[in-house]
Amino acid sequence: MSKFLCHCGYIIRDQTDYLPYKAYFFLDADTNQSFERFYTYLHDLQIALDQGKHQEFFKVVHGEENRIEPFSLEDSVATMFGGLFATRSHTLYECENCGRIWLQSHRDMNHYIPYLPEGSMRGVLKADDDKKKAYIEAVYEELTEKEGE
Ligand SMILES: [Zn+2]
Repeated sequence: MSKFLCHCGYIIRDQTDYLPYKAYFFLDADTNQSFERFYTYLHDLQIALDQGKHQEFFKVVHGEENRIEPFSLEDSVATMFGGLFATRSHTLYECENCGRIWLQSHRDMNHYIPYLPEGSMRGVLKADDDKKKAYIEAVYEELTEKEGE
């Protein structure tokens, strides 16, 4: 999704990398199946490496037509991990204006469902640094004080 209009009127743009208001998530129902496939790949890769047959392994796993000569270990792992990510992840966005979370309801569909936050907390999809931690601790106290009233 390149851009869309939030209910508050703010335009949420997705036209670059490292957006502080975008995240990916995996459904719990998909996690075991997805990661087990990746673990199986790693297991089989280890056997191929031990036997010195990793180029043959890459040919089988990635297909003859997708094989770059020589296919590197990094390329292979990146391709497998990228594929897992592309086929299993969902996207979500946080509106920087109103804090509304837009959640991709199905990974094959470009439909996003909005969820409004109850409090003033914003920036929940920003990188987990110390600044974010301090902000969350301050706002979280405010939220829990309200709950106690
Ligand atoms: Zn908004």
